[in-house]
Amino acid sequence: MENKQTSVAVIGGGPGGYVAAIRAAQLGKKVLLVEKSFLGGTCLNIGCIPSKALMSAAGLVAKMQQAAKMGITVSGVSVDMKKTQEWKSGVVQKLTSGVGQLCKGNGVEVLMGEAHFTGPRTLQVKAKSGEVEVQAENIILATGSVPTQIPGFPTDEQRVLSSTGALALTEIPKRLIVIGGGYIGLELGMLYAKLGSAVTVVEMMDQLLPGFEPELVRTIAAKVRKLGMSVYLKSKAANLEVLSNGVRLQVETQGKQESLEADYLLVTVGRRPNTAGLDLDKAGVRCNEAGFIPVDKRLKTAVEGIYAIGDVVGNPMLAHKASKEGEVVAEVIAGKAVELDYQAIPAVVFTDPEIATVGLSEAQAASAGYEVLTGKFPLAASGRALTMGETDGYIKVVADKKSHALLGASIIGAEASELIAEATLAIEMGAVVEDIGMTIHAHPSLAESFMEAAKATIGEAIHVLQK
Ligand code: FAD
Repeated sequence: MENKQTSVAVIGGGPGGYVAAIRAAQLGKKVLLVEKSFLGGTCLNIGCIPSKALMSAAGLVAKMQQAAKMGITVSGVSVDMKKTQEWKSGVVQKLTSGVGQLCKGNGVEVLMGEAHFTGPRTLQVKAKSGEVEVQAENIILATGSVPTQIPGFPTDEQRVLSSTGALALTEIPKRLIVIGGGYIGLELGMLYAKLGSAVTVVEMMDQLLPGFEPELVRTIAAKVRKLGMSVYLKSKAANLEVLSNGVRLQVETQGKQESLEADYLLVTVGRRPNTAGLDLDKAGVRCNEAGFIPVDKRLKTAVEGIYAIGDVVGNPMLAHKASKEGEVVAEVIAGKAVELDYQAIPAVVFTDPEIATVGLSEAQAASAGYEVLTGKFPLAASGRALTMGETDGYIKVVADKKSHALLGASIIGAEASELIAEATLAIEMGAVVEDIGMTIHAHPSLAESFMEAAKATIGEAIHVLQK
């Protein structure tokens, strides 16, 4: 058996693991990155990137259909889903090969294979070339998450899909049922609705996007209706029959049973930490009740020399959280006095319009004991939003009444995913609302609306009437 010795072994090449590996190598460590399937992990291969690529394509179709209001006639729009998938795969391939080059360029050794523990500092890797034994001074677990399965609804990626199967379809379903109205279900549901599918969403809770402020969800719910999607709230998928050319789903809704049929069923009811097959017990690492690996703010597990980052350590399960943890853990191992500060992690839902939040919501700030100031600016009052024909939504700012420090922001509207960066930076730097108000923003831009919302907290907004 081949034997390797290293200073840092990273298990998992997703946005947590590959970033940790590169940063550790930059800091002078000898690094081995072990990945069992694909560099780039869930995010680049079957998550963030392929979903956003397909959403861009679907968004373009929807835009062309609405171009008439700008006096543009577009006819004969058709989608060749096979070609769209080829384009998407090209995007994925560029990015994943880029990760490989970055690893190489930084001196990270990549070993393709599945790792499991044989002791607290030893791993065995089933690689294509045979078994490899690895001895490492430090081990970083970055094994990510996998879709949650619900009993009775096993995904076969033929007719019953997880997000992975839904992102690989080479035809546009005529009818698609989505179980779960969370962010992945809604992003994919809206994507296919824009491509022409009749989409039905079945959600157990009493609103779409459970956990998000109802105020934000109302705008999305209106768009969902506009796209012709059907939504069953407070409803439970009860029984599934897989047919030769589709699925039949029994839904319990408001005390009744309804039977729905579709070409495909997409099951998106969340993700769970991926620790299967790691033999964590051989290293003495224990998971908590929810299956996550507990870590402290320096990403240390309870076992000396073993660290964990990304989806496998807990929510929010987001790529940029995983990457930041990857940088911090590498610096911890290199002896730097750093720890994670979770107060400004942005979260984006790539629905139409997009939703982006950072920091505390108004309700969270109040329950944390703050006296709260809020300011809101509707995009309907933004010159730039009007010129884009994208006036749905608003920007809301939450600040501390005493210090005027920015505590949080929520944005719903076009480019929310880009706009949230300014709010994140402001929170990170401890800005007060006056700092944002005094910053000159380019005109016409959507970002002006963030400045106006900040000024609205202290009654100084110019382009919206205030009480
Ligand atoms: P992962 O990316 O899951 O990587 C873990 C890696 O570990 C995998 O490559 C796996 O093969 C490997 N591995 C596991 N076990 C072993 C082993 N024993 N040996 C070797 N290798 C192993 N997040 C966002 O921030 N923005 C988005 O827009 C977004 N969209 C998403 C859309 C979808 C459809 C999905 C499913 C997810 C999305 N996410 C998004 C979430 C994001 O993908 C994850 O938060 C992120 O990938 C987590 O990174 P990670 O490094 O912790 O784990």
